[in-house]
Amino acid sequence: MKRVFATVLLLMVAGGVGAQGWLKPRPDAFPPEVEPAPKALTMAATVEEMASWDRYPTYETYLAMMQQWAESYPALCHVDTIGVSLQGRLILSMYIAPQTDDDRFRPEFFYSSTIHGDEVTGYVMMLRLIDTLLGSYGISPRLTQLLDDTRISINPLANPDGTYRMGNHTVQGALRYNANGIDLNRNFPDPFATTKAAVEQENQAMIDYVSSHQFRLSANLHGGSEVMNYPWDCFTTQQRPHPQSAWWQEVGRRFVDTCRSYSPNHFNDVNSSGVIAGGDWYVIHGGRQDYMNYYHQCLEMTMEVSLAKLLASERLPEYWRFLAPSLINYIFEIHNLPDAVGVQVPEKEVRWRTTADIPAGTQASLYDLTGRLLASGRWPLEGCRLPAGVYLVKAGNQCFKQFFSSDAQ
Ligand SMILES: [Zn+2]
Repeated sequence: MKRVFATVLLLMVAGGVGAQGWLKPRPDAFPPEVEPAPKALTMAATVEEMASWDRYPTYETYLAMMQQWAESYPALCHVDTIGVSLQGRLILSMYIAPQTDDDRFRPEFFYSSTIHGDEVTGYVMMLRLIDTLLGSYGISPRLTQLLDDTRISINPLANPDGTYRMGNHTVQGALRYNANGIDLNRNFPDPFATTKAAVEQENQAMIDYVSSHQFRLSANLHGGSEVMNYPWDCFTTQQRPHPQSAWWQEVGRRFVDTCRSYSPNHFNDVNSSGVIAGGDWYVIHGGRQDYMNYYHQCLEMTMEVSLAKLLASERLPEYWRFLAPSLINYIFEIHNLPDAVGVQVPEKEVRWRTTADIPAGTQASLYDLTGRLLASGRWPLEGCRLPAGVYLVKAGNQCFKQFFSSDAQ
């Protein structure tokens, strides 16, 4: 969830105060709790205990699950290490791309969850999605086709230190922030923020990872509300609508309608449609969604998938039942993207943030991520004016992926 609600707990001391002073309360003086307490956050200490998907994995179980999938399906997937958290936990992604002789272009899709460590529903949804996709290959014609046509990266846990704040054995006490107390979803480069914060280690790893890929469609899963939140987060639609607003609304509506066909009373806490432009809900800066759209021309939305942040573990299967069809359908959307994916941002004097060693004067061509030729000439293509983003550069016989930045370094 994007917002922090300050909760003030008034601890009422029960027991009567009489003329004679404080009386010792009767043992049954406290009314019974409405909800059973503590809330069921049952943990799975082994992979086997995850079989019915009604538990949260311990950190070690999570690592074991990722490893087991990679070992069980070596021709379908591998585990990418995006990076390491401040406290040394791994930030992983399951990269699913069946090895085929077919070398045609397959677009890259990215799911990521739980950048807010206490919003854990998406964490288990992503794990179960990995299991479903891998287990369906060669069995479900529809999902086999999806995997053959798409490269899918799934990062179940973007902020492991927040989730396992109280230790690797529990998600009880999970926290929104990383170990520095920073909200990672306010900490990405934001071209329109007036102040620039130092990028946290977890986010720098994420930036490096997405910069080394060509994701075209992605989503970041949160909890605390149920709504499909599309860009921009840093503007209201009145200030600056996203060029693909109409497409986002359609995609969001399809997602919500499908969920409601399985379980009607969801995605109605923010508005009746369950779909909203982020800035119209409330404006934030430094979110990953805007970063992906602006800098990477990757269409990313923020999916708030459960009202409860720390959803009781026994309710996880119920959430999977109504979310899974929509989560899978959303991946299919990558094959039906709007023509003009590019984000319309003001052109500025831009500079190359060069990682490739391209000798000055080399004949070079610049392409967008769809392969469209944008410019050619002698490197470094001075005078080339384009929106900030990621582009492909062909220089001599080599091809590079370059980050084109508007903020001078
Ligand atoms: Zn959140």
